[in-house]
Amino acid sequence: MTTTRENSAPAFRPLSMMLTGFALSWTFIVATPALFAQEAASTAEATAATATATTAPAEKPKIHEVIAASDPSVQAFNEHLTILASPWMEGRLPGTKGMERAMDYMEDEFRKAGLLPAFQPSDGGPKNYRQPFSLGSQRDVTDEQVRILCGGTEVALEKEKDFRFTSLGTGGSAEGVLAFVGYGIEDGPDGYSSFAEGHSLEGKIALVLRFEPMDDKGNSLWSGGEGWSGRAGFQGKIAAIAKRNPAAIVVVNTPSANDPRITSLGTGGGGRAMADVPIFMVSTDAGERLVAACDGEKRSLMDLRKLADAKDAAGARSFDLAGSKVAVSATVSEKPVRAENVVGVLPGRGDLAKEIIVIGGHLDHLGQGDFGSREGPGKLHPGADDNASGSAGIILLGDMLKKLYDAEPAETPLRTIVFIGFSAEESGLNGSRFYVDNPIYPIKDTVLMMNFDMIGRILNNRLAVTAAGGKDIKEWAQPFYAKSGLTVVERGAGGGGSDHASFLAVGVPILFAIIADFHDDYHTSRDVTGLIDRESSVMAVNLWRELAWDMAKRTQRFEAETTGGPMRPQPMRVRVGLRTRASDDGSGLEVIDVTKEGSAANAGIEKGDKIVKWNKKEMKDREAFVAELRLHEPEETVQCVVVRNGEEKTVYVKLEPARSGQ
Ligand SMILES: [Zn+2]
Repeated sequence: MTTTRENSAPAFRPLSMMLTGFALSWTFIVATPALFAQEAASTAEATAATATATTAPAEKPKIHEVIAASDPSVQAFNEHLTILASPWMEGRLPGTKGMERAMDYMEDEFRKAGLLPAFQPSDGGPKNYRQPFSLGSQRDVTDEQVRILCGGTEVALEKEKDFRFTSLGTGGSAEGVLAFVGYGIEDGPDGYSSFAEGHSLEGKIALVLRFEPMDDKGNSLWSGGEGWSGRAGFQGKIAAIAKRNPAAIVVVNTPSANDPRITSLGTGGGGRAMADVPIFMVSTDAGERLVAACDGEKRSLMDLRKLADAKDAAGARSFDLAGSKVAVSATVSEKPVRAENVVGVLPGRGDLAKEIIVIGGHLDHLGQGDFGSREGPGKLHPGADDNASGSAGIILLGDMLKKLYDAEPAETPLRTIVFIGFSAEESGLNGSRFYVDNPIYPIKDTVLMMNFDMIGRILNNRLAVTAAGGKDIKEWAQPFYAKSGLTVVERGAGGGGSDHASFLAVGVPILFAIIADFHDDYHTSRDVTGLIDRESSVMAVNLWRELAWDMAKRTQRFEAETTGGPMRPQPMRVRVGLRTRASDDGSGLEVIDVTKEGSAANAGIEKGDKIVKWNKKEMKDREAFVAELRLHEPEETVQCVVVRNGEEKTVYVKLEPARSGQ
C-alpha cells in the first residue's frame, strides 16, 4: 500500500478523535498507514490546500505513538495482554516454565496494585499469592529402544521414524521371542479368536496388528462397510493380550489397511495406560523389517496379515516367530504436575468486610496444543483472546478497584474483593473447582463471582453477559449494561463452560462475560495479540469495574434463586443429535446412536465414542448431561471430550436449535 496524501483519511480529525473513533487494534493500524498523516490537524488543512505536487511521503504510523496517545487503561491493558500472550509464556500450560512466568507476572502486578497475598504457608513462611493444587502427573520418557537381535546383526529401530513408545502402557524393558497374536481379538464373530489355545505369551513380546481382519482393499470384514467395528479399538485388544502376561506389546501399523492413521505412530495424546507392560507402536516398514529378520519361515508382514485375515478362524491363531529375538525398553518417570491459582485480596471495611466478591478469569491456556486444540499439537497456542485478554482485565481491575477503595472515606462499609487468576481451566475448570472446595473465605459469604473469559475480540461492541444464580441479579446489572457503551447480549446460564460454572454449582451468584460473536481462531495457534481490540476490551473492564464497585457498597446481597422444589424442566432449546447411555464402569457416556448431519455428527462424534467431558465438566450420568443441555442456547459451540479407541479427542459441537412443535 502506498502512503500518499491522496489516499489518506478523507476527513481531518484530531488525533484524539481518531483514537477514540477507531478500535486500537494493530491490524487496523497497520492496514491504515495514513492514520497519522493528519497529526497537526489544524495546520494540515492549510498545508494540504497549498501543497502542490509535494513529494514528502506521509509519515508511517508508529505503534508506540498510538499507544502513547491512547487512554492509560488501554495502555496498561495492552502491556499485560502482550506480555501474557508472548511466546515467552509458552502458551501458559500448567506445569511449564511459561505458566510459571505468567503466574509470576500476575502475582507481581497484584502486589504492585496493593492487593494482599492470600495464603499463609504451613511452614510459617511469608504470606504468598499462590494456591497450589495437584493436577495429576506428567510422564517423562527416556531411553526408548526397540532392537532386533535376530538375523545375525543387531539392528536398532529409529525412534519417531520407526517406532514410538506409547502412553497405552507403562515403562519397563524386555527381551525375548516375538509372539504373533494377529489382531489381538479374542471374541470375533463366528468363533474368531486371535489366540491359540495353549499358546503362552508369558515373558514374550507380543506382536499385534492394528485394527481388525480386512479384505484385499484393506477394509474391515466386520463393520459392514463403514470404518471399523468396535473390536478394532486399542482398549479391547490390549486387555486381551495383557491378561496373557506378555513382557511387552508391539503394535504394528497393518500393511495396506485403508485408514489414514496407518502412516502415523500416534495413539493420540492423553491416552491412559491400559496395561502394566511397555507398549510400542511400530511403522509398517519397520514391522516388515522386524518380521523379515526374525521369522524362521521367511514370511513377510503381509503374509502374517493374510493369516490373521483368514475366514477360517483356526488359521488366524497366535504362534511364536521361531528363532526371533527382540529387545525393547523405555524408562518412564512420573512427575506430579502442580498447578496454582494466583490470588490477591482487597480487604473490605466495616460490616460488609466479611462478605466476598470474587473477580476471576483463567490464566492458563493450551501450551503447544497437546490437548483441546482444534488444529492439533506442535504449534504455540498463545491464547491472546483465550484468556490473556481476561487475565489482563483482572489485573487492571485489581488496580482500579484498589484506587477506588483508597479514595473512599474510611468509614464506608465495603465488601472484600478476592482477585483470582485460575489455573487449569482448559483441562476442566480444575482451578476454580479447587477454589470452591478450598475457599479462603467461606463460600456462603461469597456474594458474587465475576468471570472474564475472552474479552479480546469484541466485534461491533457486542459483549455477551450471563447473570445468574441470584434473584434480581439481572435487574441490578442491566442499568450498567446500558451505560457501558457496549451492546450487551444477555445469555442464559449455560453459556460457555468456564470458571463461573464452578461457583454457580455451589450456589454463588455469577456474572460472566465473553465475546458475543465466536471466532474461528479459538483454540488454535492463530489466537494472537495482533487481532485483539484493546479499546473494547477495556470497555468490558470498565463495565466490570462499575458493577464490582456498586456490589462492593450495596447493602443487600442477592437472595438465592428459589427453585421451589422439583423444578419444572426447562424446554430444551437445542438438539445434539445423539443418544447415550452411561458406561458400565462409570467413566463416561457411551454414544449409542448419532443422527446423520446433526450437531454431534458434524462435530465428528461417532457411534461407539465415549463422552467423558461436556462443556469442560466431567460427564458420568445421563441426567447430568440432559440438565446441562437444557442450559444451552442454539448456535452455541461447546467443547466436548470423547474417548475413541482408547484415545482422548476434543471436538467442538455447534448446537442446532431444537425442532419446535415436537
Ligand atoms: Zn477460555
